[in-house]
Amino acid sequence: MADLTLPPGPEARFDRQTRFAPLGPAGQKRLAQASVFVLGAGALGGVIAQALVRSGVGRLVIVDRDSVEWSNLPRQILFEDRHAQAATLKALAAEETLNRIGGPTVIEAHAAHVDAANLVQLASGCDLLMDGSDNMETRYLLNDLAVQQELPWVYAGVVGGGGLVLPIRPGHGPCLRCLFPEPPPAATLETCDTAGVLMPAVGAVASLAAGAGLRLLVDPESITPRLMEVDAWHGETRSLKVPRNPDCPACGQRKFPFLDAPITERTMTLCGRDTVQVRGQGRGVDLALMADRLGAVASDVTPMGPMLRATLDGYRITLFQDGRALIEGTQDKGKALALYDRYLA
Ligand SMILES: [Zn+2]
Repeated sequence: MADLTLPPGPEARFDRQTRFAPLGPAGQKRLAQASVFVLGAGALGGVIAQALVRSGVGRLVIVDRDSVEWSNLPRQILFEDRHAQAATLKALAAEETLNRIGGPTVIEAHAAHVDAANLVQLASGCDLLMDGSDNMETRYLLNDLAVQQELPWVYAGVVGGGGLVLPIRPGHGPCLRCLFPEPPPAATLETCDTAGVLMPAVGAVASLAAGAGLRLLVDPESITPRLMEVDAWHGETRSLKVPRNPDCPACGQRKFPFLDAPITERTMTLCGRDTVQVRGQGRGVDLALMADRLGAVASDVTPMGPMLRATLDGYRITLFQDGRALIEGTQDKGKALALYDRYLA
């Protein structure tokens, strides 16, 4: 007799989706063998990651650099009040929530800022890349990697009441740079910080993206790449056939400047947050040692597991093990860099 206290095997767990003919048992087997990289554990990344884990992908790598804030909770489904209260790193909170779902997926979470220096390593062994990021810089980086290594990826963006999704199969249709050859100048795009964002928009866009991701894993040949536009507030959808551009810098000329770019920029301002991020110098930090050192010059020095918080010269600082720091209370990169180099380098 079956032991009813144990979870049933995959056949019972995935029964309803394997009955869906386009997936079927063969598709389920492909999902179980697949590794997926999800960049971002926030709004889009959270819904996408949950959909993939519940669908039974074999391995999910999820990366996020931020910690949970109260204003995330209306739409970032992997997080709860207690995570915002403790400012838990999103990667760790996501790992905990996704593991609690159960099922066969092996989850690998990294609290890191993704850039050209670490993306290849973080995404190694993955069969599909999913965009849960919140900025174009990261998407051009993902596109470079995907086209260079011929990996399928799904572009997704949400703002206000709707957003866009484009499944990309390098070599078999347009890539992101066929559609938008260059990144838009900074501050020309509406962002969630300026235009707000609604949970139903996140759910609609992320679900379309996750659906495209599953199909790219199970039956990629069946996909005709289309840019999907959804407005969850007005209840409207559109789908646009996008041609491949033979002169595309990425998939036409095979130039990958975002991936090849040497890291010279040490700082970036975090949109709408009055915060500057300063990159580490490629070596880790002993946070316990740093806490001791800062004791003399900083106030509120608080070790919080893989990060350290403190107040320095009136600025709130969060320092991570990889040497990265968030400096709150300024958008002045020079000031942030000076503070970093003086106290944290
Ligand atoms: Zn292209």
